[in-house]
Amino acid sequence: MADYEADSILVLIERTPSGGLAASAAGLLGAAALVGTPVALVVTEAGAGAAAAKAAGALGAAHVVVAETADPSILSMPVVDALVAAAEAVRPDAVLISNSIAGRDVAGAFAARTRSGLAVDAIGISRDVEGIVAHHSVYGGAYNVASAVTWGFPVITVRQGSIEARAGARETTVTAVPVTASDRPAASIVAFDETIAVSSRPELRGAAKVVAGGRGLGSEEQFTLVEQLADALGAAVGASRAAVDAGYIPHSHQVGQTGVSVAPELYVALGISGAIQHRAGMQTAKTIVAINKDADAPIFEIADFGVVGDLFAVVPRLIAALDAKRV
Ligand code: FAD
Repeated sequence: MADYEADSILVLIERTPSGGLAASAAGLLGAAALVGTPVALVVTEAGAGAAAAKAAGALGAAHVVVAETADPSILSMPVVDALVAAAEAVRPDAVLISNSIAGRDVAGAFAARTRSGLAVDAIGISRDVEGIVAHHSVYGGAYNVASAVTWGFPVITVRQGSIEARAGARETTVTAVPVTASDRPAASIVAFDETIAVSSRPELRGAAKVVAGGRGLGSEEQFTLVEQLADALGAAVGASRAAVDAGYIPHSHQVGQTGVSVAPELYVALGISGAIQHRAGMQTAKTIVAINKDADAPIFEIADFGVVGDLFAVVPRLIAALDAKRV
């Protein structure tokens, strides 16, 4: 069993269905390195631990704890069992988990099992004299708040894309941790159909650049202008709920309180008024650009750059300028 540093931060690494590390892994390990020694937990099916551990080491894990599950079709509970075993071995100052659907499911169950405090949807992590502090953007980004636990270690889910820091690759120890299955009730996968994404655009969650369109696009056909600008910038496509409700684009692209939360480097809002429920999902973007014909639209209150104008006149010129720059 490896010796774990007193300032260890345990990071649950999510994996893609094809077995690779999820895109959230780099940010989680980067956040852990800011406040302590990153220790990655990789939960794998039997025999797949070595490759995943190597990949986690390349992203800056000082130690990798590998837990093998007997039945990978059972959802969440084997991961919670593995986290319990890893936390007992590592004695971390905090546990970091992606704020994904699966991550939140695991985080809640693990926090309840270990009687730990749970801090969700953090956009930053710091350490003060009393321990680890999670930072959150709440009420549609109107307030930044900090949370900490008064007992034990915090379990923190981290918003994907919100952490810029990256940990450098380092010498990594790899340790297998034996996991005792709790056999608690759990859902299991009975059938699995892989959906092959045909889009070459980046995935919205975790994208570095997002171009989003709202009701101002006016129709599904005209919404392709959003996609054209996204392609010119190499960005993912987002949308307001009004655009989704009007059928311009599927719900999976909705940004906001009842959609996806994003924290990209660049967020371009086209024909979006900037309702608080939309802002809740994008206000932590590093640079916000808004194009709207209404100078009083609330989106301009949070925009770093704004164009007051008809998007159907502005965006084609923007695309042409980007194309001209490329040649
Ligand atoms: P509008 O508010 O109608 O704004 C359209 C904008 O386009 C206007 O500002 C207009 O000036 C501009 N415009 C029109 N034509 C042009 C043009 N030619 N050129 C330039 N600009 C133009 N919303 C979300 O987005 N995400 C959520 O997750 C979400 N969750 C919600 C949850 C709840 C419980 C509730 C009550 C609401 C939620 N909403 C959410 C809805 C939200 O309140 C707004 O209704 C919605 O965001 C408005 O979308 P919009 O900005 O596209 O449309």
